[in-house]
Amino acid sequence: MAILDRFDRPLKSLRVSVTDRCNLRCQYCMPETDYAWLPKETLLTFEEISTLTDAFCDLGVDRVRLTGGEPLLRRDLTSLVGMLAARPAIRDLALTTNGILLAPQAASLRAAGLHRITVSLDTLQRDRFRALTRFDSLSAVLDGIAAAAAADFDALKIDTVVIRGVNDDELVDLIEYGRTMAAEVRFIEYMDVGGATRWTTEAVVSRRDILAALERHYGAVTAIDEQSSAPADRFLLPDGTVFGIISSTTAPFCETCDRSRLTADGVWLMCLYASAGMDLRRPLRAGATSEEIRSLITAVWTSRSDRGAEERLGLAARVPLIPVSVLRRDAHLEMHTRGG
Ligand code: SAM
Repeated sequence: MAILDRFDRPLKSLRVSVTDRCNLRCQYCMPETDYAWLPKETLLTFEEISTLTDAFCDLGVDRVRLTGGEPLLRRDLTSLVGMLAARPAIRDLALTTNGILLAPQAASLRAAGLHRITVSLDTLQRDRFRALTRFDSLSAVLDGIAAAAAADFDALKIDTVVIRGVNDDELVDLIEYGRTMAAEVRFIEYMDVGGATRWTTEAVVSRRDILAALERHYGAVTAIDEQSSAPADRFLLPDGTVFGIISSTTAPFCETCDRSRLTADGVWLMCLYASAGMDLRRPLRAGATSEEIRSLITAVWTSRSDRGAEERLGLAARVPLIPVSVLRRDAHLEMHTRGG
């Protein structure tokens, strides 16, 4: 039985960031020239991640997603996957990656027990990729996606942040590419979170605009009627192709949010928009028992009332959530520290 928060939302899904480092500098996430990284000695070991994950699973978590930063930068991630895959309580073990380092690791991640993989890909155009991310790595990402497709995961998804004037003319190309990889494409509305210091309302391509653009090309799109706490709403094209839209900015879904996040240094966050979280590393390293860790988690979750995205939607004038000067003082506010 999962514990419930103040809005009766169960604690079911845990996103574990394994590093705050990234090998891309996406304009919408890490646009600055330099960053303050989490001190190395504060990063949780794989054993510590496992111990904390066990405590979460005891309280109802059954879905775990590894993220970052770029999770494949963490050395020997496959062994963490193996440790977590051995836990019967985790019925869904997934990874979100930018795909650059995926090609050589896809088969071993699958063999270690990873169920599902999501690769972030915002453009299929090399020059655009370089302009958006500051790295000329598109072909490595495409190789990674092909390797994941060949490794036969339970599901392969491609996540695209849609930004007006940047890649909103590629929606059809991305759907067509996804089809060739048997991957479900999900379009994410540009969010005003952590590192998105250049965010503007004008740059957001809404769920409505995304659907309209796809209908212009494919004809009528049908919403799939399903009960789910997944962030994406799913739709069918006339030929049966499925795609998703994550509309956190214009149509947030806080009501069904059963997710929380653990940073690479053990800070547990209830919401992507939260201003602070609970440090679980300190009690863990001070020798807290599993029962003590479980009661800390229970106390925080049962008093949780976060509805970050809905509160943002209610604002009259909307600007980036956190100014650069504030981000510089606290790395925990960054999206690349929280994990997406
Ligand atoms: N490095 C990995 C990756 O690229 O998938 C995992 C971490 S990344 C922070 C996770 C996801 O967050 C990516 O799909 C990224 O596009 C998304 N993301 C980052 N900043 C965002 C923003 N401002 N709005 C919407 N999505 C964002």
